[in-house]
Amino acid sequence: MTAQKVIIIGTGPAGYTAAIYTSRANLNPVVIEGNQPGGQLTTTTEVENFPGFPDGIMGPELMDNMRKQAERFGATFVSGSVTSVDLNQRPFRVVMDDSKEYLTESIIISTGASAKMLGTPGEKEMVGRGVSTCATCDGFFFRGKSILVIGGGDSAMEEATFLTKFASEVTIVHRRNELRASKVMQERARQNPKIKWILNVTPVRVVSDASKVNGLVVKDNQSGEERTVSTDGIFVAIGHTPNTGFLGNQVEIDDRGYIVTKDQSTATSVEGVFACGDVVDSHYRQAITAAGSGCKAAMDVEKFLEGSMFHDWLLQTTT
Ligand code: NAP
Repeated sequence: MTAQKVIIIGTGPAGYTAAIYTSRANLNPVVIEGNQPGGQLTTTTEVENFPGFPDGIMGPELMDNMRKQAERFGATFVSGSVTSVDLNQRPFRVVMDDSKEYLTESIIISTGASAKMLGTPGEKEMVGRGVSTCATCDGFFFRGKSILVIGGGDSAMEEATFLTKFASEVTIVHRRNELRASKVMQERARQNPKIKWILNVTPVRVVSDASKVNGLVVKDNQSGEERTVSTDGIFVAIGHTPNTGFLGNQVEIDDRGYIVTKDQSTATSVEGVFACGDVVDSHYRQAITAAGSGCKAAMDVEKFLEGSMFHDWLLQTTT
């Protein structure tokens, strides 16, 4: 089996940008699309804050454009997901869900992070129609409306505070009386006159008609009573899970499951394996920051291959 120069795993903005840069550098990347080709942005509607689109662009169209741009320079896309990798051998081995295998001199991991969902009835169906996991992406659409934010961590405090710029009222709904969020974030939220609180309740189901969310049924954890809280939108902010399961602990990850990269680079604990986008970033989580880090990963790979034995061999056989 011939080894690839680089395999990119995951196709959000980070993976596609890495594909554009590596294909343009004649590295002929093989890009594994994953379960959700195009990533999280394919589930959103209009993206208004990606530079270069003064009138906004639909999330799926933006991702499709990035894909076409990478194809134009020769990137090869493979549908399916990676189930495991072997990083103890060189070239590395990448195993797909259809049992197909690839060998590669380098890997860019851009598998992203999945927002955790409540799993309550009615929630999944209304994503993009009143249920969201990204205030920065969707807050603007709730100008003058009332919103619920679910969660008691820093994300919930941050999202709620941010959403008060648009919403008439934001209510934080949390399953305990105590918040997990840091003191400073809690205080900021508590001092915001637009933020209300419903504590010690469990979300039970989303109430909606065909086109929009109307409310959330919650159960009081003390009395067990259920009631419906009216709302125009529900922002679920209960954390993210980085998609690293297929790595099987071969790459260093931090205590929250994010891949650790070295200094300012995208290099991981394994030489020749690079990571970018939301799988390394618990903080910014924006399409544009992911795209930027995808560019960095491609440049890091290029440098790595320039210095690698594989590249020397390639030069000898092609000259
Ligand atoms: P988190 O700290 O894990 O908090 C998740 C919250 O969601 C918790 O309050 C949790 O409740 C609740 N929750 C989890 N599963 C739930 C479920 N099924 N139903 C209802 N509620 C549920 O996650 P995060 O807020 O996303 O923060 C992640 C990390 O990023 C943290 O380290 C945080 O400090 C950091 N962060 C920092 C900033 C900042 O500094 N600007 C902003 C955002 C995030 P319990 O408390 O009951 O477990």
